[in-house]
Amino acid sequence: MRLLRISLTVLTCTVLIAVGALVFLLQTHPDFSITERPAQPTDKAVRMLFLGTSSMAWTDGQSTWLVDGFFSRQPVGEVLLSRLKVEEGRVLEVLDEVFRRLEIPAALSGIVVAHSHYDHSLDAPFLAMQFGARLYGSQSTWQIAQGQNLPAMQMEVMQQGGVASLGQFELKLVLSAHAPTGFTGGFNTQPLPLPARALSFKEGLSYSFVVSHPALGPAPFALIQPSAGFLPGQNKGLTVNTVFLGTGGLGKLDEQYMADYWQEMVVSTRAKKVYLIHWDDFTQPLLAQGKPVALKPMPRLLDDFPRSLELLKMFSKRDEVDLQVLNAWEIIYF
Ligand SMILES: [Zn+2]
Repeated sequence: MRLLRISLTVLTCTVLIAVGALVFLLQTHPDFSITERPAQPTDKAVRMLFLGTSSMAWTDGQSTWLVDGFFSRQPVGEVLLSRLKVEEGRVLEVLDEVFRRLEIPAALSGIVVAHSHYDHSLDAPFLAMQFGARLYGSQSTWQIAQGQNLPAMQMEVMQQGGVASLGQFELKLVLSAHAPTGFTGGFNTQPLPLPARALSFKEGLSYSFVVSHPALGPAPFALIQPSAGFLPGQNKGLTVNTVFLGTGGLGKLDEQYMADYWQEMVVSTRAKKVYLIHWDDFTQPLLAQGKPVALKPMPRLLDDFPRSLELLKMFSKRDEVDLQVLNAWEIIYF
């Protein structure tokens, strides 16, 4: 009996120490700060406000749509140890601030979901219901939306990709791939009610988004690549000026992978500008006491953003491409 008690105590202590160490490592960020950029001309109608991970709000003043709209950003302890729900107050506070900064009415035409992991899909059905927006994504994302009771008429499942018309914006969903990480793969095969564990949100399909707007000519002007994955040849024949390049998990992959990813997304599209996205630790909030919080890179345990940045900078110099790291709440004017 005594031996059993001692064994149980040792086991409990070991588990507690391991969890403590994990939480500590997941809160250890590499040093990094974004250098100030010169102000841009702000008289352009088409603009994009970045919100960490691959979340962004696009508008032309008439029609506003989101990529993902993941604003709950629960702290790491909650992600590891509890079931997640939409943090409604936090999510609405972020979106109010988005509308205020973009000086637009509080309305959304659509939300496109990059893939079904919780850091992309969790808040999208809630936002779609709050603002009457249409949701676009995969069958796996539809399961998440059903778990939150989104009416079927508000969701368009695009298993083969397709085009979403959002006001004058035309947004093409192109099938792509997730960065090869330990979390890649799997499908949600039944409705996922909340609260749910982070790992219950399976990837489903991963998309890239190609953006066009008549104010910028008939051809697409931007490519959004939320996850650092690619299908060889997925951008064949596509030319864009700007790429929003996801880097989540990229720092742990080999140099050849990074070179191939750059080739597919930037060289083959002949892009002139690259903005890095999904580089941040999404267990940190976007606002604290109503004020914007600067993003921190992913913890070293999961990624090595300084390494990704060093290599991507080298490629950008070689190919004469302007490379920038986007911070939350930055607005890019087109
Ligand atoms: Zn993912």
